[in-house]
Amino acid sequence: MKKILGSVFALASFFVFSSAAQITVIKAGRLVDPDAGSVSTDQVVVIRGNKIEAVRKNLPIPSEAKVIDLSRMTVLPGLIDCHTHLADGAHGEGDPMFQLKKSASQTVLESVPNARVTLESGFTTVRDVGVYRALNDVALRDAINRGDIIGPRMYVAGAYITITGGAGAMTGMAPDIQLPWDFRYGEANSPWEVREKVRLLVHNGADHIKVLSTGAVLTHGSNPKAVEFTPEELEAAVDEAKHFGLPVEAHAHAAEGIKNAIRAGVASIEHATLIDDEGIALAKQHGTYLDMDIYDEECIQEEGKLGKVPKDFLEHDRELGQIHRENFRKAVKAGVKMSFGTDAGVCAYGTAGKQFAFMVKYGMTPMQAIQSATSSAADLLGHSKEIGSIKPGKYADMIAVSGDPLQDISLLENVQFVMKDGKVYKQK
Ligand SMILES: [Zn+2]
Repeated sequence: MKKILGSVFALASFFVFSSAAQITVIKAGRLVDPDAGSVSTDQVVVIRGNKIEAVRKNLPIPSEAKVIDLSRMTVLPGLIDCHTHLADGAHGEGDPMFQLKKSASQTVLESVPNARVTLESGFTTVRDVGVYRALNDVALRDAINRGDIIGPRMYVAGAYITITGGAGAMTGMAPDIQLPWDFRYGEANSPWEVREKVRLLVHNGADHIKVLSTGAVLTHGSNPKAVEFTPEELEAAVDEAKHFGLPVEAHAHAAEGIKNAIRAGVASIEHATLIDDEGIALAKQHGTYLDMDIYDEECIQEEGKLGKVPKDFLEHDRELGQIHRENFRKAVKAGVKMSFGTDAGVCAYGTAGKQFAFMVKYGMTPMQAIQSATSSAADLLGHSKEIGSIKPGKYADMIAVSGDPLQDISLLENVQFVMKDGKVYKQK
């Protein structure tokens, strides 16, 4: 009897649970499928709770469903930015040294609006690739996941793994200034030190590992044309991360540093500014993604004119912008895997959509540009089963624009509807 009662109770609670899950139906005038590279019309998307249940033409609409009519709009999967820095505080302070004027809690609380505007601009997922103060990104991700604050799904690096004084280090102070632990967290100067940092980051909740293979533009005393980590150190990072199932992305501007990182087996090259023909061939051969932030040069130059960018950064940046864009064009033409990453934080948060038009200007079709920020980005993140397209079983992450972004890609700068996890965050 007890047994029967138990199963009756289990059955009852199942019905209570399933009826509690909200059913939402979206009527999509046009729906973009980046997996197939196609667009279909008059689609019905049925969402139960936070997951997509069905997508088809003429699907019957359940009577209890909440209906959202986007029949005059184009619906796309939620966008994914594979290169952001949401947890570094407010944008527009110019010199990274401003980080020293704030406590870690001030910085992370000032990052709350960054997360919100990113989501509201249509990016439902980001791969956040490093913070000045280690683990601020972990705190921001967890606050979003708990529902305490509004923001995209974040997959975070936890910290930069960098050589001392390198691209990911806080530099520019007098040599006798001792920084607090969180500014020095990821410094490593041998393969074994790299492994130690990977282990620490895994323990502290990193979703992926960021290594700095060459110098940087926006770091004092760093040269983007210089190699920093050795091949042995990069291989140690990839191998150690693999033990824990994590992918590695490598910041690299210089051609040699790009090739070192590809050969070491990283999942993506960030920036890939000075990639040469051999690097392009290697990326293609290894299936390495290039995550090229070809828009943010506009912001560096613009803010440079206003005197907001340190002189040495502008010096690093000189000429690199145009070469970067031409190399992007070459890589697209060669058929290398490309993902969408903007280095959000260099330009103001919430403006990442501006990069789409530049990607099309420099050789992509509008569909390729959309794929770079949806299906390809999900593949790079290792989360194709959950995000990247509007398919049954995936999270209900979608956006809509009025008009046809395949005719005018700049429409993605003005996203009018945002849903994440089945919940609407924006509807104009
Ligand atoms: Zn970056």
